[in-house]
Formats: sequence, C-alpha cells, structure tokens
Amino acid sequence: MAKKRASKVRAEFRKHHDARTRKKDFTSQASQLDGLDVETAGERMSGKGSLTRRRTLIGAQTADEASGVSILREVDPEKCRPGRVLSVHGLSCRVADDSGIVFRCATRGILKSISTDQRQLVAAGDRVQFQPIAEREGVIERVEPRTQVLSRTSRNKRHVIAANVDQLLIVGSAAEPYLKPNLIDRFLVSAEASGIRPIICINKIDLIDPAELVPLVGVYSQMGYPTFLVSVHRRINLDSLRKLFRGRQTAVAGQSGVGKSSLLNAIDDSLKLRVAEVSAENQKGRHTTTAASLIPFGDGWLVDTPGIRQFQLWDVAPEEVEGYFRDLRPYVSLCRYPDCTHIDEEDCAVKGAVADGRLDLRRYESYVHLFQGDMV
Ligand code: GDP
Ligand code: ZN
Repeated sequence: MAKKRASKVRAEFRKHHDARTRKKDFTSQASQLDGLDVETAGERMSGKGSLTRRRTLIGAQTADEASGVSILREVDPEKCRPGRVLSVHGLSCRVADDSGIVFRCATRGILKSISTDQRQLVAAGDRVQFQPIAEREGVIERVEPRTQVLSRTSRNKRHVIAANVDQLLIVGSAAEPYLKPNLIDRFLVSAEASGIRPIICINKIDLIDPAELVPLVGVYSQMGYPTFLVSVHRRINLDSLRKLFRGRQTAVAGQSGVGKSSLLNAIDDSLKLRVAEVSAENQKGRHTTTAASLIPFGDGWLVDTPGIRQFQLWDVAPEEVEGYFRDLRPYVSLCRYPDCTHIDEEDCAVKGAVADGRLDLRRYESYVHLFQGDMV
C-alpha cells in the first residue's frame, strides 16, 4: 500500500524553478529549525497509539531542569572527585571515577531534599562530583548539567533513562534481514530531533556486492552523516568504527537480527562478559529493569537499557519531520504555501528538487512515509 502511495506522489512531480519563491530567505528558516526547542518537540504526541503510552524520547535537558531546582552546588575540590554514574538502584548508584574504580554512592541529603522527584535526580550517564567516604563507597555532592537526555514519558511524566548520550549508532544490515533505508531515516530523524549525533552502520556486507550500496552511502555521506559498511564476520571496517567510540557515550538502535550484538562484541571483545554481568545484576532487582546502565566500551561507554537495541526512538510530530531531513530542509521555505506538506501542493520546491535530481527520490519517499506516520 505504501508503495502505491509513493508512486502516486512521484507522478505529481513537476519541474518549476520559480524565481519569485526563491527570493524567500530560507537561511533564516533553516536556522530557526536548527534552534527548535527539542524538548517541546519531544513532548508532542507521535500519533502512534501504541507508542504514546510508554513513549521513548530523547531531548536536551539539564540536571537543573530535571529536579526543578539548581543542584550545581559548590563542592570542596580537596575532598571530591569527578565521576560518572553507571547505574542507579533505588537511592544508591554505582559511580566510576576517572580511573575506572567503581564506588557505591548515596546522594547527599541536601540534594535529595531539593529534588522534586528523586528518580530524576541522578541518572545513568550523569557526570557528578562525589566524595569517597570509605573503600568503594561515597556520597554524590553535585550533579553536573546534562546535555542530551534519553527519556521516556509515561502518564505525562518524564523519566530520564540516561543522561549525556553523545551519539546514536544506527545499525542496519545489507541482507538477512534486507536493508531498510526508511528505518535508518526514521532513526536519523529521532537523533536530529534530540541533538544526538547519528552514526550509520550497515553490517553483513559480505552477503552482497558492496558496490550496490554506494549510491545510498553517497546520499548519507553528502548530508554529513558518518556511514560505515562493515562485516562482523569478515572483520571489515571494524577498526574505523571502533575509533568513534573513544570517550563517547553511545546508544545503539536497529532492528533485531542485523548483528548489533555481534558488532558490539567484535568492537570490544570484553563486552560479552560485561553484558552477562549486567543482566545478572538486573535479575536481582526487577524494579530497576527499565533503568539504563553504562558499560565501558571501546574506550568510551555504551548506554545499555533493556531493549535499547530495539529502541523505537520516535517522537516527532508529522509537521516537524521536514525540519529533521537535512537534505530537504533547504527547500521547504521555497514552497508556495508556508504550511506545505510537500505531498499534494502546487509549486512545491521540495517536489521540484526531486524532479530535477537535486533531492534524492528515495529520501523524499521516506519523508512521505514518516510524514504520513507509516510504520517502516
Ligand atoms: P542483533 O539482534 O541485532 O543483536 O543481531 P545478532 O548480533 O544476534 O546477529 C544476528 C545474526 O546475524 C547472527 O546469526 C549473526 O551470526 C549474524 N551476523 C552478524 N554479523 C554478520 C556479518 O557480518 N555477516 C553475516 N553474514 N552474518 C552476520
Ligand atoms: Zn512543499
């Protein structure tokens, strides 16, 4: 059915270089879009019934906003040291210092009392200042402001899953299961909406002639997305991918079976063991199973949540989709109608760009799918 719609759309393309519409200032529109309040965008309904109850979304947020008050307290640098929260278990958390030593930490009473929601106070991925009080034990004195946040909204309340997620590794496979570029686009939109840097990785290139993927990779690379063709089985390109994890906190997305676990284990062969340890820990405290944990990974950190590898990172309203398509964005302000959806309208600069080859047809069709809320 989706195909039918796409070909109908294609039939409507018309070349039109309209000097009048060109005059509009699209740079200001683009920068406006760049500055979109992702938090606001993230709170909107996705229009997908099944996802609206326990939606997963990501957005920028500071620790201050999470608790509703400032928790940037002065701390004594003599007594405190910087750390990174690996996981949260009720009122205590595991914090790694810069040398990787893990402390079980409580949260300073004053921090708790100023927090309106203790669950929001500290999240996996938070950078903190903590004071060691015994061997492998400490107290968190301060939570640093957050950058990007992975969060989920349920009953209009937002729960932070992980803080300071730097990048999203989007994994697809060249075959078995067959490549779904639309799904990649969907994850790209989610990453763009939350300011998280996407990295595209297409695995299992041993199953096809990699030349087949050159046009697709070209389109993504042109937009500035790092794109890697890899084969875990043949160990192709794993080294170049490994470099990207250094010092970063990375979340992973992609449909099941594309080889995410194989890939992560191949990039860091100590991971397998650690994953097993983490799940054993989760077994003990069932109530913590929705919480994320950070796993040391390839000189950086993997943001691991139960089910994160099947993450549905999607919470963007249809009319916002155009703003998160980097290649489509320059044209949207050139359309005749300011609220043009780029589907049925006359004098649509986006369709014009597709017609004369400036905009990739497949990307345009992908935009239409996402705008119409089709499942990929
Ligand atoms: P996940 O569900 O995304 O975590 O995928 P898995 O890591 O469990 O892998 C799914 C299947 O794909 C397994 O049978 C792997 O052996 C296979 N696989 C992983 N990487 C490759 C690859 O590079 N080439 C081929 N041909 N198969 C692969
Ligand atoms: Zn248009």
